[in-house]
Amino acid sequence: MQAVLTVDLGAVAGNWRLLRDRAAPGAVAGVVKADGYGLGAAPVAGALLAAGCRHFFVAHLAEGVALRAAIGPGPLIAVLNGFAPGADEDAALLPVLNGLPDIAAWSAAARAAGRQLPALLHVDTGMARLGLAPAEVEALAADPSRLAGLDLRYVMTHLACADEPEHPLNRDQAARFAAARARLPAMPASFANSSGMFLGPDFASDLARPGCALYGINPTPGRPNSMRQAVRLAAPILQLREIPRGTTVGYGASWAAPRPTRIATVAAGYADGYLRSLSGRAAGILAGRPVPLVGRVSMDLITFDVTDVPGVAPGDLVELIGPGNTPDEVAERAGTIGYEILTSLGARYRREIRTA
Ligand SMILES: *Cc1c(COP(=O)(O)O)cnc(C)c1O
Repeated sequence: MQAVLTVDLGAVAGNWRLLRDRAAPGAVAGVVKADGYGLGAAPVAGALLAAGCRHFFVAHLAEGVALRAAIGPGPLIAVLNGFAPGADEDAALLPVLNGLPDIAAWSAAARAAGRQLPALLHVDTGMARLGLAPAEVEALAADPSRLAGLDLRYVMTHLACADEPEHPLNRDQAARFAAARARLPAMPASFANSSGMFLGPDFASDLARPGCALYGINPTPGRPNSMRQAVRLAAPILQLREIPRGTTVGYGASWAAPRPTRIATVAAGYADGYLRSLSGRAAGILAGRPVPLVGRVSMDLITFDVTDVPGVAPGDLVELIGPGNTPDEVAERAGTIGYEILTSLGARYRREIRTA
């Protein structure tokens, strides 16, 4: 018996449409890095394409090559981490140029090819991670010929604190982005991620880049989630057993039954991305009722106290993630963020894709 991961592509497409309407007249991309945040980049991109999405972002070159094979020619696919000229195996991927060395390499490749090469330019305004540092922007302003041969489709930047609307860095980044744009050749801009799309008009641009919200993560933490849930993870009960009061359950004997207890052993564990930090902290949903996870999360198994749910039988499914147990809620209990819950989703689940 195997856990079932149900991916609701209708919800993903619905979330994209909601964001598209919010961003208009700007366009909205789909960020499908990390295998579509664990949901499956190819099916997710197919659903977004059908909804009208024409811009996709991945992190790695290999993700871009696979995505191009899945969605065919036409839509823009940008590789956030960049790649060397010619490395994309004719997949027509666009590199994100993250510094002067990237720019030099691609400009030289354009000269050698005798044609313009399309790319995106990334300006760092507050992450100190990837993207042109302020001095690099100045170097381009002083010598725009460094950009020769580059067909720059967008200049982008990335927000560090978009999920904290009051954080002063948001405003600073908007100002720094505007200042950097003024020093560069005119071109369309790409600014907000999911949460950034909810920060107001200063964060609007020609192309928003939402990821997490497409997959149901709340882009407005602390406020109601306007996104539909796209993932349900349900794992089957392998065995039920009655244990007397005082019996310990699982590794480390970390939990002892405070009363005669019925334990359901369920087929999922940390090897499936059900994080070990959920030990003793999570709940599943069985027959519409919350059941507490007891004892430690093992590699392949977890245990629930189902004493209070009548009529439980082996094979019954315990919902681990779903509308009543969202990735954000599971993350909260695990001490992490919904992104990590989704991108940790394992390879051993039977995946069912719903398109309705
Ligand atoms: C991951 C990523 C996004 C999407 O961010 P979300 O918070 O998931 O919406 C957008 N832009 C860049 C550069 C990213 O790395």
